[in-house]
Amino acid sequence: MRNVSPLPAPINATIMVWMATEALAPASAHSDDFEEIHVRRGPRSGVPMVVAVHRTFRGRSLGGCRLWTYADFEAAVLDAERLSRAMTLKAAAADLPLGGGKAVIALAPGESLEGERRRAALHDFAELVDGLDGRYVTAEDVGVGEQDMAIVARHTRHVVGRPVEQGGSGDPSPYTALGVELAIRAALGDDDLRGRAVTVAGLGHVGASLAERLARAGARLTVTDINPARRAVAAVLGAAWVEPDEAIAVAGDVFAPCALGGVLDDDAVERLDVTVVAGAANNQLAHGGVAARLHERGILWAPDFIANAGGLINVAAELEGYDRERVLRGVHAIAETLRAVFARARAHDTTTLAAAEALVAERLAARH
Ligand code: NAD
Repeated sequence: MRNVSPLPAPINATIMVWMATEALAPASAHSDDFEEIHVRRGPRSGVPMVVAVHRTFRGRSLGGCRLWTYADFEAAVLDAERLSRAMTLKAAAADLPLGGGKAVIALAPGESLEGERRRAALHDFAELVDGLDGRYVTAEDVGVGEQDMAIVARHTRHVVGRPVEQGGSGDPSPYTALGVELAIRAALGDDDLRGRAVTVAGLGHVGASLAERLARAGARLTVTDINPARRAVAAVLGAAWVEPDEAIAVAGDVFAPCALGGVLDDDAVERLDVTVVAGAANNQLAHGGVAARLHERGILWAPDFIANAGGLINVAAELEGYDRERVLRGVHAIAETLRAVFARARAHDTTTLAAAEALVAERLAARH
Protein backbone atom coordinates (compact mmCIF):
# COMPACT_ATOMS: atom_id res chain seq x y z
CA MET A 1 0.00 0.00 0.00
CA ARG A 2 2.57 2.54 -1.05
CA ASN A 3 0.56 4.70 -3.34
CA VAL A 4 -1.66 7.00 -1.32
CA SER A 5 -2.91 9.18 -4.14
CA PRO A 6 -5.63 9.36 -5.27
CA LEU A 7 -7.94 8.19 -2.52
CA PRO A 8 -9.58 4.91 -3.39
CA ALA A 9 -13.09 4.99 -4.76
CA PRO A 10 -15.83 4.68 -3.79
CA ILE A 11 -15.61 7.53 -1.33
CA ASN A 12 -16.56 6.29 2.09
CA ALA A 13 -15.66 6.68 5.71
CA THR A 14 -13.10 3.93 5.72
CA ILE A 15 -9.95 4.75 7.62
CA MET A 16 -6.88 3.20 6.08
CA VAL A 17 -3.96 2.60 8.35
CA TRP A 18 -0.37 2.19 7.35
CA MET A 19 1.50 0.85 10.30
CA ALA A 20 5.26 1.31 10.20
CA THR A 21 6.12 -1.87 8.37
CA GLU A 22 7.89 -2.86 5.22
CA ALA A 23 4.63 -1.94 3.46
CA LEU A 24 6.29 1.44 3.04
CA ALA A 25 9.22 0.22 1.01
CA PRO A 26 12.39 2.31 0.72
CA ALA A 27 11.63 2.99 -2.93
CA SER A 28 8.55 4.89 -1.85
CA ALA A 29 8.66 8.65 -1.57
CA HIS A 30 7.38 8.04 1.95
CA SER A 31 9.59 7.40 4.90
CA ASP A 32 9.24 4.11 6.71
CA ASP A 33 9.81 5.48 10.21
CA PHE A 34 6.22 6.39 11.09
CA GLU A 35 4.15 4.60 13.67
CA GLU A 36 0.85 5.32 11.95
CA ILE A 37 -0.57 7.20 9.00
CA HIS A 38 -4.34 7.54 8.71
CA VAL A 39 -6.06 8.77 5.60
CA ARG A 40 -9.72 9.58 5.31
CA ARG A 41 -12.16 11.29 3.01
CA GLY A 42 -14.63 13.02 5.29
CA PRO A 43 -18.03 11.37 4.97
CA ARG A 44 -19.90 14.63 5.60
CA SER A 45 -17.65 17.05 3.74
CA GLY A 46 -16.00 14.93 1.05
CA VAL A 47 -12.71 16.58 2.02
CA PRO A 48 -9.61 14.34 2.20
CA MET A 49 -7.51 14.47 5.36
CA VAL A 50 -4.53 12.73 6.90
CA VAL A 51 -3.06 12.24 10.37
CA ALA A 52 0.61 11.20 10.62
CA VAL A 53 1.85 9.90 13.94
CA HIS A 54 5.61 9.86 13.77
CA ARG A 55 6.55 8.84 17.30
CA THR A 56 4.78 8.24 20.61
CA PHE A 57 7.62 6.74 22.63
CA ARG A 58 7.94 9.90 24.75
CA GLY A 59 4.18 10.08 25.19
CA ARG A 60 1.14 10.82 23.05
CA SER A 61 1.89 12.68 19.85
CA LEU A 62 0.85 16.31 19.62
CA GLY A 63 0.86 18.59 16.60
CA GLY A 64 -1.38 21.02 14.78
CA CYS A 65 -3.82 20.49 11.96
CA ARG A 66 -2.99 22.32 8.74
CA LEU A 67 -5.71 23.31 6.29
CA TRP A 68 -4.06 24.13 2.99
CA THR A 69 -4.22 23.60 -0.77
CA TYR A 70 -2.10 20.90 -2.41
CA ALA A 71 -1.46 19.94 -6.02
CA ASP A 72 -2.56 16.40 -5.17
CA PHE A 73 -3.24 14.28 -2.13
CA GLU A 74 0.20 12.69 -2.25
CA ALA A 75 1.71 16.12 -1.56
CA ALA A 76 -0.61 16.55 1.43
CA VAL A 77 0.43 13.20 2.90
CA LEU A 78 4.11 14.04 2.42
CA ASP A 79 3.56 17.37 4.14
CA ALA A 80 1.86 15.69 7.11
CA GLU A 81 4.75 13.22 7.33
CA ARG A 82 7.44 15.89 7.23
CA LEU A 83 5.60 18.06 9.72
CA SER A 84 4.99 15.20 12.16
CA ARG A 85 8.65 14.20 12.07
CA ALA A 86 9.57 17.80 12.91
CA MET A 87 7.17 17.64 15.87
CA THR A 88 9.11 14.70 17.32
CA LEU A 89 12.29 16.79 17.16
CA LYS A 90 10.52 19.86 18.52
CA ALA A 91 9.02 18.10 21.53
CA ALA A 92 12.34 16.45 22.36
CA ALA A 93 14.30 19.70 22.01
CA ALA A 94 11.80 21.43 24.32
CA ASP A 95 12.05 18.48 26.71
CA LEU A 96 8.32 17.81 26.62
CA PRO A 97 6.97 14.31 27.36
CA LEU A 98 5.39 14.13 23.90
CA GLY A 99 5.84 12.43 20.59
CA GLY A 100 5.37 13.98 17.17
CA GLY A 101 2.20 14.00 15.11
CA LYS A 102 0.54 16.29 12.62
CA ALA A 103 -2.60 16.46 10.50
CA VAL A 104 -3.50 17.96 7.15
CA ILE A 105 -6.94 18.75 5.78
CA ALA A 106 -6.21 18.92 2.07
CA LEU A 107 -7.90 21.26 -0.37
CA ALA A 108 -7.46 21.32 -4.13
CA PRO A 109 -5.69 24.33 -5.69
CA GLY A 110 -8.00 27.35 -5.54
CA GLU A 111 -10.49 25.60 -3.24
CA SER A 112 -11.57 27.21 0.03
CA LEU A 113 -13.51 25.80 2.95
CA GLU A 114 -16.13 27.98 4.59
CA GLY A 115 -19.47 27.82 6.39
CA GLU A 116 -21.33 24.56 6.72
CA ARG A 117 -18.80 22.55 4.70
CA ARG A 118 -15.96 23.77 6.91
CA ARG A 119 -17.88 22.71 10.02
CA ALA A 120 -18.58 19.33 8.38
CA ALA A 121 -14.88 18.86 7.53
CA LEU A 122 -13.86 19.72 11.09
CA HIS A 123 -16.44 17.23 12.40
CA ASP A 124 -15.03 14.57 10.05
CA PHE A 125 -11.53 15.43 11.20
CA ALA A 126 -12.50 15.27 14.89
CA GLU A 127 -13.94 11.81 14.34
CA LEU A 128 -10.68 10.69 12.75
CA VAL A 129 -8.70 12.08 15.71
CA ASP A 130 -11.08 10.49 18.20
CA GLY A 131 -10.59 7.09 16.60
CA LEU A 132 -6.91 7.24 17.56
CA ASP A 133 -7.78 7.09 21.27
CA GLY A 134 -5.40 9.88 22.29
CA ARG A 135 -2.29 8.67 20.47
CA TYR A 136 -2.63 11.92 18.50
CA VAL A 137 -3.73 15.21 20.08
CA THR A 138 -4.56 18.01 17.66
CA ALA A 139 -4.28 21.81 17.77
CA GLU A 140 -4.26 24.67 15.26
CA ASP A 141 -1.74 25.19 12.48
CA VAL A 142 -1.71 27.15 9.23
CA GLY A 143 -5.24 27.83 7.98
CA VAL A 144 -6.89 26.72 11.22
CA GLY A 145 -7.76 28.88 14.24
CA GLU A 146 -8.95 28.48 17.82
CA GLN A 147 -12.62 28.73 16.78
CA ASP A 148 -12.02 25.71 14.52
CA MET A 149 -10.55 23.87 17.49
CA ALA A 150 -13.71 24.71 19.43
CA ILE A 151 -15.70 22.85 16.74
CA VAL A 152 -13.28 19.92 16.82
CA ALA A 153 -13.62 19.81 20.62
CA ARG A 154 -17.36 19.09 20.30
CA HIS A 155 -16.50 15.71 18.85
CA THR A 156 -13.25 14.67 20.54
CA ARG A 157 -11.46 15.46 23.76
CA HIS A 158 -8.05 14.97 22.14
CA VAL A 159 -7.63 18.62 21.26
CA VAL A 160 -5.78 21.59 22.74
CA GLY A 161 -5.59 25.25 21.77
CA ARG A 162 -9.32 25.94 22.22
CA PRO A 163 -10.45 29.48 23.06
CA VAL A 164 -9.61 30.65 26.59
CA GLU A 165 -13.34 31.29 27.31
CA GLN A 166 -13.91 27.59 26.75
CA GLY A 167 -11.15 26.46 29.09
CA GLY A 168 -8.42 26.15 26.48
CA SER A 169 -5.05 27.90 26.25
CA GLY A 170 -6.14 29.97 23.26
CA ASP A 171 -4.13 30.93 20.22
CA PRO A 172 -0.56 29.57 20.57
CA SER A 173 0.86 32.03 18.03
CA PRO A 174 1.91 34.79 20.48
CA TYR A 175 4.01 32.23 22.36
CA THR A 176 5.56 31.04 19.13
CA ALA A 177 6.33 34.66 18.25
CA LEU A 178 7.91 35.26 21.68
CA GLY A 179 10.11 32.19 21.20
CA VAL A 180 11.19 33.37 17.75
CA GLU A 181 12.05 36.81 19.11
CA LEU A 182 14.20 35.16 21.79
CA ALA A 183 15.80 32.99 19.08
CA ILE A 184 16.66 36.10 17.06
CA ARG A 185 18.23 37.75 20.11
CA ALA A 186 20.21 34.58 20.91
CA ALA A 187 21.43 34.28 17.32
CA LEU A 188 22.48 37.92 17.18
CA GLY A 189 24.23 37.49 20.52
CA ASP A 190 22.82 40.81 21.56
CA ASP A 191 19.70 41.61 23.52
CA ASP A 192 19.38 45.06 22.03
CA LEU A 193 17.32 44.95 18.84
CA ARG A 194 17.28 48.72 18.31
CA GLY A 195 18.25 49.54 14.75
CA ARG A 196 18.58 45.88 13.74
CA ALA A 197 17.24 45.23 10.24
CA VAL A 198 14.84 42.28 10.24
CA THR A 199 12.74 40.96 7.36
CA VAL A 200 9.61 39.04 8.33
CA ALA A 201 8.21 36.90 5.50
CA GLY A 202 4.61 35.89 6.20
CA LEU A 203 2.35 38.11 8.30
CA GLY A 204 -0.11 35.54 9.56
CA HIS A 205 -0.79 34.64 13.18
CA VAL A 206 2.87 34.29 14.15
CA GLY A 207 4.51 36.66 11.66
CA ALA A 208 2.26 39.60 12.57
CA SER A 209 2.76 38.99 16.28
CA LEU A 210 6.54 38.71 15.80
CA ALA A 211 6.63 41.87 13.67
CA GLU A 212 4.77 43.76 16.40
CA ARG A 213 7.20 42.56 19.06
CA LEU A 214 10.22 43.48 16.94
CA ALA A 215 8.80 46.90 16.11
CA ARG A 216 8.26 47.55 19.82
CA ALA A 217 11.88 46.53 20.48
CA GLY A 218 13.07 49.12 17.96
CA ALA A 219 14.02 46.89 15.03
CA ARG A 220 13.91 48.27 11.48
CA LEU A 221 11.35 46.07 9.78
CA THR A 222 10.76 44.92 6.22
CA VAL A 223 7.74 42.67 5.77
CA THR A 224 5.91 40.72 3.10
CA ASP A 225 2.97 38.37 2.54
CA ILE A 226 1.35 36.81 -0.52
CA ASN A 227 -1.89 38.28 0.79
CA PRO A 228 -1.78 41.97 -0.21
CA ALA A 229 -4.36 42.78 2.49
CA ARG A 230 -1.55 42.25 5.03
CA ARG A 231 -0.03 45.53 3.84
CA ALA A 232 -2.28 47.07 6.47
CA VAL A 233 -0.11 45.43 9.15
CA ALA A 234 3.00 46.96 7.57
CA ALA A 235 1.38 50.39 7.59
CA VAL A 236 0.44 50.16 11.28
CA LEU A 237 3.97 49.09 12.24
CA GLY A 238 5.72 51.59 9.98
CA ALA A 239 7.46 48.69 8.24
CA ALA A 240 8.73 48.68 4.66
CA TRP A 241 6.88 46.32 2.31
CA VAL A 242 8.54 44.14 -0.36
CA GLU A 243 7.03 41.66 -2.79
CA PRO A 244 7.22 38.05 -1.51
CA ASP A 245 9.87 37.00 -4.08
CA GLU A 246 12.18 39.82 -3.03
CA ALA A 247 12.08 39.26 0.74
CA ILE A 248 14.83 36.64 0.80
CA ALA A 249 17.33 39.07 -0.73
CA VAL A 250 16.72 42.10 1.50
CA ALA A 251 20.02 43.25 3.00
CA GLY A 252 20.01 43.38 6.79
CA ASP A 253 20.74 41.45 9.95
CA VAL A 254 17.97 38.84 10.10
CA PHE A 255 15.65 36.99 7.74
CA ALA A 256 12.64 35.58 9.63
CA PRO A 257 10.66 33.05 7.56
CA CYS A 258 7.12 32.91 8.98
CA ALA A 259 5.13 31.45 6.08
CA LEU A 260 5.42 27.89 4.78
CA GLY A 261 8.24 25.36 4.66
CA GLY A 262 10.96 24.78 2.06
CA VAL A 263 11.74 28.50 1.77
CA LEU A 264 15.49 27.91 2.02
CA ASP A 265 16.42 26.03 -1.15
CA ASP A 266 19.66 26.01 -3.16
CA ASP A 267 18.76 29.21 -4.94
CA ALA A 268 17.38 31.09 -1.93
CA VAL A 269 20.41 30.41 0.23
CA GLU A 270 22.65 32.17 -2.32
CA ARG A 271 20.38 35.22 -2.35
CA LEU A 272 20.38 35.76 1.42
CA ASP A 273 22.09 38.98 2.52
CA VAL A 274 21.88 38.62 6.32
CA THR A 275 23.93 37.07 9.11
CA VAL A 276 21.03 35.31 10.87
CA VAL A 277 18.02 33.27 9.74
CA ALA A 278 15.49 32.64 12.52
CA GLY A 279 11.77 32.30 12.01
CA ALA A 280 8.59 30.43 12.81
CA ALA A 281 8.02 28.40 9.64
CA ASN A 282 8.32 24.64 10.04
CA ASN A 283 10.71 22.72 7.82
CA GLN A 284 12.47 25.79 6.44
CA LEU A 285 15.26 23.83 4.73
CA ALA A 286 14.29 22.35 1.36
CA HIS A 287 16.89 19.65 2.07
CA GLY A 288 19.64 18.99 4.62
CA GLY A 289 22.40 20.20 2.27
CA VAL A 290 21.13 23.75 2.65
CA ALA A 291 22.36 23.72 6.25
CA ALA A 292 25.91 23.11 5.00
CA ARG A 293 25.69 25.99 2.54
CA LEU A 294 24.37 28.33 5.26
CA HIS A 295 27.31 27.29 7.41
CA GLU A 296 29.81 27.91 4.57
CA ARG A 297 28.33 31.33 3.96
CA GLY A 298 28.67 32.21 7.65
CA ILE A 299 24.93 32.62 8.10
CA LEU A 300 23.72 31.46 11.51
CA TRP A 301 20.50 29.45 11.15
CA ALA A 302 18.36 28.91 14.25
CA PRO A 303 16.89 25.43 13.66
CA ASP A 304 13.15 25.87 13.21
CA PHE A 305 12.19 22.94 15.42
CA ILE A 306 13.82 24.74 18.35
CA ALA A 307 13.05 28.38 17.54
CA ASN A 308 9.33 27.86 16.93
CA ALA A 309 8.51 25.60 19.89
CA GLY A 310 6.74 28.32 21.90
CA GLY A 311 3.28 27.41 20.61
CA LEU A 312 3.78 23.73 21.31
CA ILE A 313 5.00 24.52 24.82
CA ASN A 314 1.84 26.58 25.38
CA VAL A 315 -0.70 24.05 24.10
CA ALA A 316 1.10 21.12 25.73
CA ALA A 317 0.66 22.82 29.11
CA GLU A 318 -3.10 22.24 28.79
CA LEU A 319 -2.52 18.52 29.10
CA GLU A 320 -1.07 18.87 32.60
CA GLY A 321 -3.11 21.78 33.97
CA TYR A 322 -2.25 25.10 32.40
CA ASP A 323 0.29 27.23 34.26
CA ARG A 324 1.31 30.42 32.45
CA GLU A 325 4.48 30.95 34.49
CA ARG A 326 5.70 27.46 33.62
CA VAL A 327 4.88 28.09 29.97
CA LEU A 328 6.89 31.31 29.97
CA ARG A 329 9.85 29.57 31.60
CA GLY A 330 9.65 26.89 28.90
CA VAL A 331 9.54 29.45 26.11
CA HIS A 332 12.47 31.39 27.58
CA ALA A 333 14.46 28.14 27.68
CA ILE A 334 14.41 28.20 23.86
CA ALA A 335 17.15 30.85 23.94
CA GLU A 336 19.27 28.72 26.26
CA THR A 337 18.84 25.64 24.07
CA LEU A 338 19.80 27.63 20.99
CA ARG A 339 22.89 29.08 22.65
CA ALA A 340 23.96 25.49 23.46
CA VAL A 341 23.38 24.50 19.82
CA PHE A 342 25.34 27.47 18.49
CA ALA A 343 28.23 26.75 20.88
CA ARG A 344 28.29 23.09 19.86
CA ALA A 345 28.22 23.98 16.16
CA ARG A 346 31.13 26.41 16.68
CA ALA A 347 33.13 23.91 18.73
CA HIS A 348 32.78 21.16 16.11
CA ASP A 349 32.79 23.45 13.08
CA THR A 350 29.54 21.86 12.04
CA THR A 351 26.10 23.05 10.97
CA THR A 352 23.54 24.19 13.48
CA LEU A 353 21.27 21.46 12.07
CA ALA A 354 23.81 18.76 12.96
CA ALA A 355 24.37 20.30 16.38
CA ALA A 356 20.62 20.51 17.03
CA GLU A 357 20.02 16.94 15.92
CA ALA A 358 22.82 15.76 18.23
CA LEU A 359 21.22 17.64 21.12
CA VAL A 360 17.82 16.12 20.36
CA ALA A 361 19.34 12.64 20.18
CA GLU A 362 20.83 13.19 23.65
CA ARG A 363 17.54 14.41 25.08
CA LEU A 364 15.70 11.44 23.57
CA ALA A 365 18.27 9.00 24.95
CA ALA A 366 18.10 10.62 28.39
CA ARG A 367 14.37 9.85 28.51
CA HIS A 368 14.79 6.17 27.78
P1 NAD B 1 -0.89 31.63 9.16
O1 NAD B 1 -1.67 30.82 8.20
O2 NAD B 1 -1.62 32.44 10.17
O3 NAD B 1 0.08 32.63 8.36
C1 NAD B 1 0.86 32.26 7.27
C2 NAD B 1 0.99 33.53 6.45
O4 NAD B 1 1.97 33.29 5.44
C3 NAD B 1 -0.30 33.92 5.73
O5 NAD B 1 -0.58 35.29 5.97
C4 NAD B 1 0.01 33.65 4.26
O6 NAD B 1 -0.67 34.52 3.37
C5 NAD B 1 1.50 33.87 4.23
N1 NAD B 1 2.23 33.25 3.14
C6 NAD B 1 2.05 32.03 2.58
N2 NAD B 1 2.97 31.81 1.62
C7 NAD B 1 3.76 32.91 1.59
C8 NAD B 1 4.90 33.29 0.82
N3 NAD B 1 5.40 32.49 -0.11
N4 NAD B 1 5.47 34.49 1.07
C9 NAD B 1 4.96 35.32 2.02
N5 NAD B 1 3.88 35.01 2.77
C10 NAD B 1 3.29 33.82 2.56
O7 NAD B 1 0.15 30.63 9.85
P2 NAD B 1 0.93 30.83 11.22
O8 NAD B 1 0.17 30.16 12.30
O9 NAD B 1 1.35 32.24 11.36
O10 NAD B 1 2.23 29.92 10.97
C11 NAD B 1 3.29 30.36 10.15
C12 NAD B 1 4.37 29.29 10.09
O11 NAD B 1 4.84 29.02 11.41
C13 NAD B 1 3.90 27.95 9.55
O12 NAD B 1 4.96 27.32 8.87
C14 NAD B 1 3.56 27.16 10.80
O13 NAD B 1 3.62 25.77 10.59
C15 NAD B 1 4.67 27.64 11.70
N6 NAD B 1 4.35 27.51 13.11
C16 NAD B 1 3.26 28.13 13.63
C17 NAD B 1 3.01 28.01 14.99
C18 NAD B 1 1.84 28.71 15.64
O14 NAD B 1 1.84 28.84 16.87
N7 NAD B 1 0.88 29.19 14.88
C19 NAD B 1 3.87 27.24 15.81
C20 NAD B 1 5.00 26.65 15.23
C21 NAD B 1 5.23 26.78 13.88
